[in-house]
Amino acid sequence: MVEPALETQTIVGLEIHVQLKTATKMFCGCPVKYDAEPNSCVCPVCLGHPGALPVINRQAVEASLLVAAALNCEIASRTKWDRKSYYYPDMPKNYQISQYDQPLGGPGFFEIPTAAGTKRIRIRRAHLEEDAGKNIHDTPGCTLVDLNRAGTPLLEIVTEPDIASADEAYSFCVELQRLVAYLGVSEASMQKGQMRFEPNVNVVIRQDGHEHKTPISEVKNLNSFRSVRNAVNYEHDRQVIAWQADPRYLFGEAPNENRGWNDDKGVTEFQRGKEAAHDYRYFPDPDLVPLVVADELVRSIQTSISELPLARRKRLCEEIGLTTKDADTIVGHRPTADLFDAALSAGAPPDVLGKQFVNVWLRLANDRHGEVTDLGVDAARMAALATITKRGTVNKTAANRLAETMLDRAESPEHLAKELGLIQVRDSAATQAWVDEAFAGSEQAVRDALTSPKKAKKAAGFLRGQVMRISQGQADPNLVGQLIEKKLSEAAQK
Ligand code: ZN
Ligand code: MN
Repeated sequence: MVEPALETQTIVGLEIHVQLKTATKMFCGCPVKYDAEPNSCVCPVCLGHPGALPVINRQAVEASLLVAAALNCEIASRTKWDRKSYYYPDMPKNYQISQYDQPLGGPGFFEIPTAAGTKRIRIRRAHLEEDAGKNIHDTPGCTLVDLNRAGTPLLEIVTEPDIASADEAYSFCVELQRLVAYLGVSEASMQKGQMRFEPNVNVVIRQDGHEHKTPISEVKNLNSFRSVRNAVNYEHDRQVIAWQADPRYLFGEAPNENRGWNDDKGVTEFQRGKEAAHDYRYFPDPDLVPLVVADELVRSIQTSISELPLARRKRLCEEIGLTTKDADTIVGHRPTADLFDAALSAGAPPDVLGKQFVNVWLRLANDRHGEVTDLGVDAARMAALATITKRGTVNKTAANRLAETMLDRAESPEHLAKELGLIQVRDSAATQAWVDEAFAGSEQAVRDALTSPKKAKKAAGFLRGQVMRISQGQADPNLVGQLIEKKLSEAAQK
């Protein structure tokens, strides 16, 4: 345990690899497929055969530019490709093509929600590179290599060490995953290893007016948000304890480390001392031309990014009055969010649409195990239903029934409401007649409402239900409530 009296501050910078959703690999025409037969999506380029020449994938460059722009990064007008040398069986070329000193995206920032409000995390860089293959250790006595993944485009995003806790690291990863999914550039599935997180963690310890900084540990290849949070928390405690055991455990004195996360034990384990850049012998790839990014392309990408998920969620909560959970659900699937906004633009009253979208449309989609965009009801008709509900042409119960009918029939909701007899009757004489009929047929409830304070509320509710039943759902519930109350108080005075 860390001494409670000790004042400590966690410092985290994140490196994140995002696998881009492109049709083909970064430098060859092989398809990017997650579950193909091992070594079936390979060619001389991604196998690193001598003399094979790489060609840049434009789709991957554009997807990266989109993310870089969404992260408020400066976009380089000219970048180049570098070879990062290392030897692994899953990397037959013995180098990875990456971007060393001229990344596609330069300094930027990304805003994340934290317990203390929105926090801005600076982005150091975003660059494009290729993935390695996979070593598979499930056969005793040997390791198998699948090179289908070798050459898949990866976007690497590096933050400044602005993240101050395990919870903030968690939040950053969640938001970034939402962003890349929202932009449509990555499936961003954790299960498929399409996003991998590497927190660089150290701790500032304050004691007796002195500050001590521990060496940095980079925890490699985390593939869940939970493991990011757990690994950062674990590293904080481990590093403070290591410093307490040996005061020379300090940044600049003891080496930085690469560590692996052992999820079963809930600990990080030492892997090796951390490489410095010169260990990789970076040099420009002589097989690839530098990449020149046209100003027009950058401009068109920047204008194509409208409202990002965090801002959109905030708007839905603050302006429409949705709960955070409902706003998350809508914004989590971009076509759903676009449909919602299209219904707003089509003139739907925001308050009614907000409730109806969640309680009616999303529920109907959920019942059918599909998305709300698959219901076959367009924004204009959703707006029309919200509008006639707001006006009181139909009541809430009738609107629910109408929505279900709209799934099968293309007429306007107002037309359907007339045909199905769902138009709300607000005529007081007609409503009074229904109330009178309900009272006459529910003597027990009327007695309870008048004589038993305990049962009064339930009895009044029963009477309301009777009126709605007798009116076949056409009565205005508000008017019904008023008339019942009036009739009861008249009866009580007798
Ligand atoms: Zn290939
Ligand atoms: Mn990398």
